[in-house]
Amino acid sequence: MDHFRLKNGVLHAEGVSLCEIADAVGTPVYIYSCATLRRHARVFREALSPCGDVHIAFAIKANPNLAVLKVLASEGYGADVVSGGEMERALRAGVAADGIVFSGVGKTGDEMARALDAGIGQFNLESEEEGVELAATASSKGMTANAALRVNPDVDAGTHGKISTGKAENKFGVSIHQAAAIYARLSALNGLNMHGVAVHIGSQLGSLDPLEAAFVRLGDLIAEIRAAGGTVTHADLGGGLGVPYRPGENPPSPAEYGAMVARITKDWNVQLMFEPGRVIAGNAGVLLTKVIRVKPGANHPFVIVDAAMNDLARPALYEAYHDFAAVQPDGACFTANIVGPVCETGDTFAMGRETDVVQAGDLAIFRTAGAYGATMASTYNSRDLVPEVLVDGDRYAVVADRIMASTVADAERVPEWLLDGDDA
Ligand SMILES: *Cc1c(COP(=O)(O)O)cnc(C)c1O
Repeated sequence: MDHFRLKNGVLHAEGVSLCEIADAVGTPVYIYSCATLRRHARVFREALSPCGDVHIAFAIKANPNLAVLKVLASEGYGADVVSGGEMERALRAGVAADGIVFSGVGKTGDEMARALDAGIGQFNLESEEEGVELAATASSKGMTANAALRVNPDVDAGTHGKISTGKAENKFGVSIHQAAAIYARLSALNGLNMHGVAVHIGSQLGSLDPLEAAFVRLGDLIAEIRAAGGTVTHADLGGGLGVPYRPGENPPSPAEYGAMVARITKDWNVQLMFEPGRVIAGNAGVLLTKVIRVKPGANHPFVIVDAAMNDLARPALYEAYHDFAAVQPDGACFTANIVGPVCETGDTFAMGRETDVVQAGDLAIFRTAGAYGATMASTYNSRDLVPEVLVDGDRYAVVADRIMASTVADAERVPEWLLDGDDA
């Protein structure tokens, strides 16, 4: 459920007309709803109430905007970070350091040192080598790092290949078959407090079955570690729950997920941790765009909008579907190809889409753009970096400026030897 609805024939974000935002801020622009973020945060937490005292760390790679993080921090969410930059953002937004989980397959020595100094709550180790390095870094500082071992459970998540992370051939975690031995060796190191195991098998999962299979394997691993004398007090079950992108799409609900987790983990005797991203932020954001013009095509007209693959990469990256809707629909529909202005055929949001009739100058939105949207934006084709707006009831604020292409060019230099006349 979200808060982007028609009011008197005009799409609003909560109480604010999208026409008003387009007038004030221009297009393209991402718009987030505070009420939707809060609602999703509460629904997800409520769904996990059968699982005891859980820690929920928002996977901030889904939406690292400082204002969004602030809203979620105020809901008691920690943060799952995958880089030093994300960690700095989480801290800046007021997320408590001990509520931060540091994930990621390539943490550098510098990132580990900074995270130790900041006092973050848990490192999710993706290899034995990483654990050895973290132990040494922590020891040299006279510190002990809390750590969990991320396991690759060899489960097919049944999602797009580029967002599957839990099959044996994927780069993430350590093989479940070697995990108990690695856990034992890491537990023996000074500087490391091995206290848990972690799993994250992929994103936009449309079924609970692969998650359940992964959790069952994780439960077996916990038993195996304990049988060998090891200690496990935490289990991080990752993120991955899907959201509906298409009308009629029905991914498992947070409540169904919570019930499954409670059933599988009831005898684990650990603190459970979660790293949801998309399910919190996905439907809390839209990308507002303006139609530049409509031109005829071989089969259907091309609707050329001022948003492009550099603003919203998911269709080009994953053939992802984003619902398209006019801000002031007149009830008529047509079949069209919706494309951006970037010089790549991949800059296509939809082919042969049945959608609201739009014409040059009309405003429209791509829905479900609050996760993996603005954060993946680039300035490709020397386009401006897309701005972001947060709406809360009847008020709104620009929470990320539009960074002009000229500002990006200002950071570039032509070396002296290329300047006119120098090679004379
Ligand atoms: C991306 C990621 C998540 C979040 O995934 P969603 O599908 O957005 O919930 C959680 N944990 C880790 C380790 C990730 O890489």
